Amino acid sequence: MATAERTYQNFINGKWVDASAAERRPDQNPADTREVLGEFPRSTVEDVRSAIDAAVAALPEWRRTSGPQRSAILHKAANLLEQRASEVGEALTLEEGKTIAEGVGEVMRGVAILRYYAGEPLRPFGENYQATNPTTFLYTEQVPLGVVGVITPWNFPAAIPIWKLAPCLAYGNVAVFKPAELTPLTAHLIVETLAEAGLPDGVLNMVQGPGSVVGNELATNPKVNGVTFTGSAEVGKQLYRVATDRGARVQLELGGKNPLIVADDASVDQAVELAISGAMRSTGQKCTATSRAIVVGRIADQFTDALVDRAKALKVGPGIDKENYMGPLVSEDARNRVLEYIDIGKREGATVRTGGEQLSGSDYDHGYFVAPTIFDNMKPEMRIAQEEIFGPVIGVIRVDSIEDAIKIANKVDYGLSASLATRDIGRAFEFIRQIEAGIVHVNSETAGAEPHVPFGGMKDSSSYSREQGRAAMEFFTQTKTVYLDMPSG
Ligand code: ADP
Repeated sequence: MATAERTYQNFINGKWVDASAAERRPDQNPADTREVLGEFPRSTVEDVRSAIDAAVAALPEWRRTSGPQRSAILHKAANLLEQRASEVGEALTLEEGKTIAEGVGEVMRGVAILRYYAGEPLRPFGENYQATNPTTFLYTEQVPLGVVGVITPWNFPAAIPIWKLAPCLAYGNVAVFKPAELTPLTAHLIVETLAEAGLPDGVLNMVQGPGSVVGNELATNPKVNGVTFTGSAEVGKQLYRVATDRGARVQLELGGKNPLIVADDASVDQAVELAISGAMRSTGQKCTATSRAIVVGRIADQFTDALVDRAKALKVGPGIDKENYMGPLVSEDARNRVLEYIDIGKREGATVRTGGEQLSGSDYDHGYFVAPTIFDNMKPEMRIAQEEIFGPVIGVIRVDSIEDAIKIANKVDYGLSASLATRDIGRAFEFIRQIEAGIVHVNSETAGAEPHVPFGGMKDSSSYSREQGRAAMEFFTQTKTVYLDMPSG
C-alpha cells in the first residue's frame, strides 16, 4: 500500500518522470481525510507537450504493429491487472470512497474490458464490396485516429480510463491520459500495469494535474487528433467547442437524471431494491444512478414507505469496512453540493422522508458522509427533479398513469439511462419505444453496463457517440476506402 510520504510522477515516453513544477497535490481518503495516500504532480503545459510529442513519435510504429501483437499486449495487461485486483481495488476505495466490493468489482470490470479489447484486433477491421469493374478489389479499412487525449472523471477511476484506453490502443492509436485529480493513485496503478504488459515507449503517456491546464492543453493542442471525455456537462460542452473548432474529433459522456418508473402492477419489493441499489450504490455518484422514482397510482404509498425503510436500514461508513453498503462522497465540494441540493429541494417544497443531512459521530467526523436521502412529493419541474445531484438522493414523483410517467421521464435535458418496473410486457414495449435514453432497462436498475455492448446517452448526456463494445470503433478509427486494381499493359 502507498505510504503518506510517497511522491508520484508522470509517465512520459515509457519513463516515470517528475513534472516540471515542484508543486504537488495530496491524495486524501474521503472517508478519513487525515489519511494521505500520496502526493501527485500538478503538471504544467510543458509536461503535456512533452507527452504529446512522445505520443506523436510513437504513432508510426504502433499503428504498423499487427492486430495479434496488440492483442497479446492487452491480454497480458488483463492478466496482470487481475493479479493486482485486490491491491488496485483497495487503493480505489481508499481514494474514491466507494465500498471495497465495488472497488474490486470495478477493477475486475476493467479486466473484462481489457479482455474484450484484446479480442478486438482479431476481428474484422473493414468490409469488402463489389466494384463496378469486376477486377477491382474494393474494400474499407478502419485506420487509427492518431493521437488521442483521454480525460476522465473520478467516479469510476479504473473502469472509465480502461474503457477508453483499451479500445484506443487496440485500434492502433497512441494516448495521452489525464486522470481526475481526485483519483490519481488508481490511474497510476493502471498505467503501471499497462506499461508492464509491454507497450512500446510513448504509446501510452499519463500526465497528472488540473483539468484547466492539462486537460485544456489536450483540447487545444493541434497535434492531438481526438479527445474522449467523461465528466460534467459544463466542462464537456466547453471542451467540445474548443476542440471541434480546431477540427479535432470529440467524444463526450456527460451526466444523467435517470428515472425508474414503477408501474402499478410492479413487484414492489423488486422496485424498491432497484431504486435503492440504483440510487445509493457508489453513494449515488454514477452518471447512470437512479435519481427519480416515478410511481404510478395506488402503489405509491406502499413503494415510498418501503423505500424509506430500506434507506434507513443502510449501513453507511468507510468503504474499506466490508459491512458498509455506502461510503462517503468523494470530496468536500461534492458533499457541499449535495447538501445544497437537499436544501434546494426542501425550499422547493419536496418532503425529506429520511436522511437530508450530513452524518456525524466517530466514524463520520473526518469524512464526507451524507445520509441516504429520500424526497417525497417531488414535482417534475423542481430543480432537484431536473438537475444532476450526484449523491445519495432519490425523489419520488407520484403520477396517475404510465403515459404521464413516460412523459415526465422524458422531460429533462439528459437521456442516459432509464428503467421500468412492471409485469406487463405490453407496457415494457411501449416504454422501450417512447423513452428517450441511450440505455433502457426493464426490471433492472438504471446503473451498470456490460463491457461488450454500446454505452452512451441521448440528448445532453453525450455527443451522439457510443463507447464500449464494437461501438468504440466509431470514435477511435477513421475509414479508408481502397480501390485496388491490376496494373494494365
Ligand atoms: P467531475 O466533477 O466528474 O470531475 P469535471 O468535468 O469537473 O467532472 O472533470 C472531468 C475531467 O475533466 C477531470 O479529469 C478534470 O480534471 C477535467 N477537466 C476539468 N476542467 C477541464 C478543462 N477546462 N479542459 C479539459 N479538461 C478539464
